[in-house]
Amino acid sequence: MSRIAYVNGRYVPQRDASVNIEDRGYQFADGVYEVIYVHGGRLIDEDRHLDRLERSLRELRIAQPMHREALRCVLREVAARNRVTDGIVYMQVTRGVAKRDHAFPAAWTPPSLVITSRRIPPFPAEADAWTVHAITQPDIRWSRVDIKSVGLLPNVLAKQAAREQGAGEAILFDRNGMVTEGSSTNVWIVDAKGVLRTRHLDNAILAGCTRGAVIALMADAGMTFEECAFSLDELRAAQEVFITSATSFVRAITAVDGATIGDGTPGPVTSAIFDLFSRHVRGDRRNAA
Ligand code: PMP
Repeated sequence: MSRIAYVNGRYVPQRDASVNIEDRGYQFADGVYEVIYVHGGRLIDEDRHLDRLERSLRELRIAQPMHREALRCVLREVAARNRVTDGIVYMQVTRGVAKRDHAFPAAWTPPSLVITSRRIPPFPAEADAWTVHAITQPDIRWSRVDIKSVGLLPNVLAKQAAREQGAGEAILFDRNGMVTEGSSTNVWIVDAKGVLRTRHLDNAILAGCTRGAVIALMADAGMTFEECAFSLDELRAAQEVFITSATSFVRAITAVDGATIGDGTPGPVTSAIFDLFSRHVRGDRRNAA
């Protein structure tokens, strides 16, 4: 079955889908994106992702490509046309097509909207079956990574470094030796004293939708945590480390730069949060269709 993409108002076979070479996404990485996990046909944390998409667009002064309700329909249509009930939908909005010039094109230039969808492996049955190793890398990104821009070159290089060292994620640290986030995930630790921590939100990390969902689920479950930055040394000394994202879900990091974390298996806090998120994905009220 050939995959179908939505490109600026048309559903087209993905192998034939193309954008103009003067699209500002292609020329300047002048665009934003979102990835939503689809489970059992439901778009997990859909409103969080659509809120963040609209915010990214507002921050960059790119017009909203369509109303939210219409976008919801197109996202579902792309998933359906690709027979994806368990997978992802990817959407990308750029500032549109215009003669190459750094400054914004005329205000009437329509933004470009591309949506694709594909299957991914099923949601992991248990935390123990869903672990990965990480390396650490300097965070060399710009100072507005709270905007989910398609300009991902530093993230690409960091992820490639991880892959070349047999790891699945690169944990980034700033000039002060403080952990910011993963190359495509948010990072959490249970520190040496047993306190669950994740970095506070500001312009130096992306406000992960999974991070937000996990915080809400923990509040409902009466679990406490601290929104507080931690250093590389604290990361290495942590009892537990895990990452969150729309496609990593809640995933234990069992080694950092080759050194084992804890006993090398997901710890009790990671496992409890994995279970909370797994129930959320399987359909509690926050995901009512
Ligand atoms: N940080 C970065 C840099 C990311 O690319 C992602 C994935 N989009 C995340 C964090 C996690 O965000 P989310 O939970 O919304 O997928």
